[in-house]
Amino acid sequence: MKKPRAAAGSRSRHRKQSSSQEGREKRALSSSQAKPSGPDAGLARRQEEVVLQASVSPYHLFRDTAEVTVLRKNLLSWYDLEKRDLPWRRQAEGEMDLDRRAYAVWVSEVMLQQTQVATVINYYTRWMQKWPTLQDLASASLEEVNQLWAGLGYYSRGRRLQEGARKQADSQTPLCQAAGVVDGNVVRVLCRVRAIGADPSSTLVSQHLWSLSQQLVDPARPGDFNQAAMELGATVCTPQRPRCSQCPMQSLCRAHQRVSHLRKGQSGDLGSDSFPVTSCPVYAAQMEREQLLASQSLPSSGDVEECAPNTGQCQLCAPPTEPWDQTLGVANFPRKASRRPPREECSATCVLEQPRAVGGARILLVQRPNSGLLAGLWEFPSVTVEPSRQHQPKALLQELQSWVGPLPATRLQHLGQVVHTFSHIKLTYQVYGLTLEEQTPVTTSLPGVRWLTREEFHTAAVSTAMKKVFRVYEGQQPGTCKGSKRSQVSTLSRQKKLSPGQKVLDSFFQPYTSAGAP
Ligand code: SF4
Ligand code: ZN
Repeated sequence: MKKPRAAAGSRSRHRKQSSSQEGREKRALSSSQAKPSGPDAGLARRQEEVVLQASVSPYHLFRDTAEVTVLRKNLLSWYDLEKRDLPWRRQAEGEMDLDRRAYAVWVSEVMLQQTQVATVINYYTRWMQKWPTLQDLASASLEEVNQLWAGLGYYSRGRRLQEGARKQADSQTPLCQAAGVVDGNVVRVLCRVRAIGADPSSTLVSQHLWSLSQQLVDPARPGDFNQAAMELGATVCTPQRPRCSQCPMQSLCRAHQRVSHLRKGQSGDLGSDSFPVTSCPVYAAQMEREQLLASQSLPSSGDVEECAPNTGQCQLCAPPTEPWDQTLGVANFPRKASRRPPREECSATCVLEQPRAVGGARILLVQRPNSGLLAGLWEFPSVTVEPSRQHQPKALLQELQSWVGPLPATRLQHLGQVVHTFSHIKLTYQVYGLTLEEQTPVTTSLPGVRWLTREEFHTAAVSTAMKKVFRVYEGQQPGTCKGSKRSQVSTLSRQKKLSPGQKVLDSFFQPYTSAGAP
């Protein structure tokens, strides 16, 4: 059965929008993980760093190699004592082959971008069981990658991991090279340690942070150093309540210096902040030694206490329009990236089920294009629509029929809605259902179409949003989706219960009848 032209047009519109969505997702990730690549990338990066550093106030740089050495020693000593026991660390420590170790760390770092440790652990374990080496991943299909990634979000990460593995496997260059890393945690730590108050999502700050991380990474223990920096951001230098008194960076941290300086100005005394207080005596003694060493080896006259105060000239300092907030302390850094509210979009989607299909009930899934948002994932047939629901049933029926031919239009029922936020898009799915009771089972041989059992659906490469859509269809979802800040689910019955006497939006919906539809 051929796909009608009109429906294909609607899909290409959808694709076009999806591409731009993906572009935004890429940009959202780019400040934390995109790096120049290619044979000249290293040289180009070093040249950029030289140019960048030449134009940056010393206040936002590390003074010399002695300071960098102290920082590395402090951070790695702390990490050796305090690191959490996580599967990727065990995997890396037990792995003698450097390339395999680098692969294990790489996978964990990509998964940890935008996703919390607790969520990542299960995915990571399954991933490494399925693809224990880079070569295994290089030979995997996008379908398999999407299937395993389903539910982890930011699906382009999985795709890029697989693309990266293929390129790496072809290039034959060793994977293990000492390179700095910049993720959300590292952004926060570096912005505080070097008092960078400008927007961290700006190109200038992003370049500067990459440059700093490259300068700092320990050539003898690059993987541990990067893990340590991320760990510090996750457990000590946290967004809201950083524990400066237990921080191995304290003696080098400009944010801490500034807060101490301000407090001193107020009370005339530095108090207990002059040396870190820690629950670990080994670490406290070590820190004291390091600080003593640092104070002996580093000339105090070379330190820069302030960066061009009050001039508003420095592009790495907060703009004069954003003054220091006394109540925030070190959390004045980093400055919150200016975020535009997510764009709102609406999609009508339908669970089409054949209860009498051979081998048990089956539901229709179609595959998304291989590029753009949720690339290659499976979804219920969907069509981008205007928020006004007047024309949704007709558009959705056209879409469904383009896949499977004539359908009983009167059975199309509106069931509820799911709101899901993808990085910069708040997408409202209007959920419809159509059950082909007493109908001749529908078959289709189009590529990118599948009739799945419910069990197959739950293990397929489908997004979290589609699972929520299915719950609405099943009528098993009581109302609000627990455990997810990014999705809200509502069903007709829920809405009616919540709004007695109110005319809910869904009450405008009746089973669709159309003279044009069979
Ligand atoms: Fe973060 Fe405080 Fe440590 Fe500075 S001293 S890096 S602000 S926890
Ligand atoms: Zn500055």
